[in-house]
Amino acid sequence: MLPTPDLPSALPAGLPAAASPEQLDALAADLRAAGLEPLRSAGELEGLSADGFVYSPVLQPLLCGLRAQLGVRVATVEQVLQVAAACGRHRVSLTLRGAATGNYGQCIPLAGGLVLETSGLNRLRQLQAGSGVFTAEPGILLSDLDQQLQQAGRELRLVPSTMRTATLGGYVAGGSGGIGSLRWGFLRDPGHLLGAEVVSVEPQPRLLQLDATGAQPLNHAYGCNGIFTALTMTSAAAVPWQQLVLEFPEWSRALAAAQQLPASALLLNALCAVEAAVAARLPWPQGCPGADGTGHRLLLLAAPDALPLLRSWLPELGGQLIWQAPQGQSRGLPLRELTWNHTTLHLRSHDPGLTYLQLMLPQPEGPALDGLRARWGDDLLWHLEAVRSMGRQRLACLPLVRWRGPEQLQALIDHARELGCLLFNPHAISVEDGGLGVVDADQVAAKLDYDPAGLLNPGKLRGWS
Ligand SMILES: Cc1cc2nc3c(=O)[nH]c(=O)nc-3n(C[C@H](O)[C@H](O)[C@H](O)COP(=O)(O)OP(=O)(O)OC[C@H]3O[C@@H](n4cnc5c(N)ncnc54)[C@H](O)[C@@H]3O)c2cc1C
Repeated sequence: MLPTPDLPSALPAGLPAAASPEQLDALAADLRAAGLEPLRSAGELEGLSADGFVYSPVLQPLLCGLRAQLGVRVATVEQVLQVAAACGRHRVSLTLRGAATGNYGQCIPLAGGLVLETSGLNRLRQLQAGSGVFTAEPGILLSDLDQQLQQAGRELRLVPSTMRTATLGGYVAGGSGGIGSLRWGFLRDPGHLLGAEVVSVEPQPRLLQLDATGAQPLNHAYGCNGIFTALTMTSAAAVPWQQLVLEFPEWSRALAAAQQLPASALLLNALCAVEAAVAARLPWPQGCPGADGTGHRLLLLAAPDALPLLRSWLPELGGQLIWQAPQGQSRGLPLRELTWNHTTLHLRSHDPGLTYLQLMLPQPEGPALDGLRARWGDDLLWHLEAVRSMGRQRLACLPLVRWRGPEQLQALIDHARELGCLLFNPHAISVEDGGLGVVDADQVAAKLDYDPAGLLNPGKLRGWS
């Protein structure tokens, strides 16, 4: 077998041993004494030990079957402190879990131990009237949070396409961007996370109030270096977004429109481009014409004031508007649930032999896409998302990839890099390998400070290992 440097073939080395029966009994007794109910049945533990890693045929054989040894659900910060103290005392590893929609096994316990589920910790604590800055607890569903912000004329700047099911804490610790990334970039960009309330894991846990600088090392750290009990973040003025579907007979014209539209002064919150073969397999909202496999489509969220110019521009761009409905008022799936990794979800439901990659395309994008298509043909299907990266409009590519084994996938990754693409590897276990590949010293320093015994989500922070 050829080496596949980007694709793990084993769990990370040096994982701690699973907790002994004595440790577990002592931990469960402490949880009960704190008024919490330890979850220990096989069904409960199986349910607490799965997430969306099945999209990766590389991760699937490695993570399938890994189980928590104990579970617990919390609803108050005091309970989080008690769980952290008990794990610290008995030296049992502790993995946090929001809604478990992550795709890289972020919340899968690699070494057993306790899984703490946060869904009961779900209040919007504060919304500042003037600035729209809010403080909310990590277990709140993003859709619930957004609804509460909307009542005050605000909305979340960034949401994953899973916003109906995902939690705020899981998104900040395990997600990266999504709807809104076209305007606001990515969650780790300075200016989104302004502060965090964090519990350390040690026999006498601390409840820390971190400012933006202090919270940043915990942003996208898979819950390896502290437990969020509240997050303070910026919001945006709410816009009554219009969902639009545009169709283009030629892929080159669809790509050109995907490059031009975000570079205009039109207010857009999302732009997703799918080639005809992908469009043909998506479940379009009610009233939107089905795709017959000939038209390439752009899915847009646009402000109402963008519509007149967009309509008059479309003939020149070579496309036509085939469907329009206000967000929140259409029937069937909302348009955002056809974008980002929902595209992968829908295509895999037709053909489980597909997986995906995440690439930032070089500019101009055409030559890299042409180069990949020339070599890989129908093994790749195009799905692009417009984003802002480092302040510049870019196109990210989440191609659907025919799975033909790790060597082929590695060869595709190598080829994409040769063509100038930047990989955000969805087939990786550690925080670093799913990002830019480099150890972030601040993330490791925060772990040393807030999790000195290394109990949080073992094996996920390579810099610590
Ligand atoms: C169909 C589909 C589409 C998706 N689309 C997107 C997308 O558009 N953008 C995107 O970024 N992601 C996307 N994802 C990935 C995922 O849905 C999001 O990242 C989501 O926000 C994760 O939230 P969650 O509540 O499910 O977190 P979980 O999966 O439960 O947890 C994620 C990580 O956060 C940690 N964590 C949870 N709670 C806490 C806490 N209180 N303190 C510290 N750490 C904590 C966990 O340990 C884990 O490491 C998609 C996934 C699927 C399956």
